[in-house]
Amino acid sequence: MRDYLNFYLNGQWVVPENRERLAVINPATEQVAGQISLGTSADVDAAVQAAQAAFVDFAQTTRDQRLELLQAVASEYKKRSDDIAAAITEEMGAPAWLSGSNQAAAGYLHFKSAIDVLRDYAFEYQQDTAWIREEPIGVCGFITPWNWPVNQIGCKLAPALATGCTVVWKPSEVAPFSAYLLMEVLHQAGVPQGVVNMVNGDGPTVGAAISAHPDIQMVSFTGSTRAGIAVAQDAAPSIKRVTQELGGKSANIILDDLSAEAFGKAVAGGSKTMCVNSGQNCNAPSRMLVPQARLAEAEAVVKMTLENITVGNPTDRNSFCGPVVSQVQWDRIQHLIQQGIDEGAQLLVGGPGKPAGLDTGFYVKPTAFTQVRNDMAIAQQEIFGPVLCLIPYESEQQAIELANANDYGLSGYVSGADPERVKQVAQQLRAGMIHLNGAQMDRTAPFGGYKHSGNGRERGPQGFAEFLETKAVLGAH
Ligand code: NAD
Repeated sequence: MRDYLNFYLNGQWVVPENRERLAVINPATEQVAGQISLGTSADVDAAVQAAQAAFVDFAQTTRDQRLELLQAVASEYKKRSDDIAAAITEEMGAPAWLSGSNQAAAGYLHFKSAIDVLRDYAFEYQQDTAWIREEPIGVCGFITPWNWPVNQIGCKLAPALATGCTVVWKPSEVAPFSAYLLMEVLHQAGVPQGVVNMVNGDGPTVGAAISAHPDIQMVSFTGSTRAGIAVAQDAAPSIKRVTQELGGKSANIILDDLSAEAFGKAVAGGSKTMCVNSGQNCNAPSRMLVPQARLAEAEAVVKMTLENITVGNPTDRNSFCGPVVSQVQWDRIQHLIQQGIDEGAQLLVGGPGKPAGLDTGFYVKPTAFTQVRNDMAIAQQEIFGPVLCLIPYESEQQAIELANANDYGLSGYVSGADPERVKQVAQQLRAGMIHLNGAQMDRTAPFGGYKHSGNGRERGPQGFAEFLETKAVLGAH
């Protein structure tokens, strides 16, 4: 049982008194795994005050001092990686293979990558007559989700520390364990007093207090488009910078020129990727666009691939999929699966209910629909579960139009035999990251969305830019 009741304020773990508590549920057992305290706007005020005071000195630190700090964080992180991975499995159900070498590792990688970018980042340069300085923006508010809990905070914390900003952070109340351990890592690494502050709580209270706070200069939000809009609205009166990493409904275009073998590989790869993290990835390739003439070929591969996915206890090394995060999420997925059936999409594999023998835990059957029309709810809405839509197309142009005919624009996937053609298609997709022919995620490449998938970019030098204000100094020689 994890009782993670403290907040981290001004360099200390603080026991908040008379705060409501929230039980955290292990999605594999449906049992309470621990509890956190729910913060108030007064807790956010205290955190902002500490971050504001710390900013005075931290903004003046040298590149070398910040490199040293990030190196200390990375080295402490490495020591706690296994603990962090176990916490992720317990709080949100990612299976062991994913929570360790992917989820926990991704958090670590953001600190390593920020070190590489920081070494050469140009904080000062001459532009014609102007001396340009890139200065830290100030106190930053971070609000993060449960699906990749330390990855999503690592890609904000690392560039914030690298650029000399200070932080007030609210982790997801659904998956707060790994966040707590990461805060211990930062404390152990010697992050100066007040530079990072963590307050647990819910979105409408602590999240909204961060968004609206007049002394926070930027808020970086990752989560649903619904909450992202609320954050931007709450932030507007204080004119702060808002970056939003939101939902997705990414298209996976399989072109018609692939050999039978390559076609099978692309379809199988896309189907399996859809089920990683039980489908709870913002960039999941959830709409597979296949040539009408090869639909039957694709259906056979999808069916075989999803039938062979092992769903089970996430602590079991053989489970490819664990449960989804919560009862709420399970209900939402079931509702959308039913809606797909009601709208006339053809169920190819999976469907409503839990997989056989998995009555306890929020498990979902890997599911695929075929003959899906792009205007159906299952093709338009983010399901955030292991549910794939197969959408047939008649021509390459129609495939591109269908891919773009969605409010989201986070990622895209294109597979084809001709590398030039694949690149041409990629150029026409309105999305922030495109994977060609099964290319894997690169966590140093800029990541972010077009359209309703967000504003701004995280990771790499582009990620640093979000934390900097540009000052032009004239007359300096
Ligand atoms: P969520 O929007 O419910 O919650 C995210 C965070 O926002 C939580 O900390 C929550 O407490 C807080 N929040 C909720 N309402 C708020 C409000 N009114 N004001 C301020 N904060 C509020 O999302 P979730 O269910 O935790 O995460 C899943 C969503 O996140 C999916 O839509 C997924 O696509 C998206 N996501 C996007 C990316 C990306 O990089 N684009 C990455 C991961 C997840």
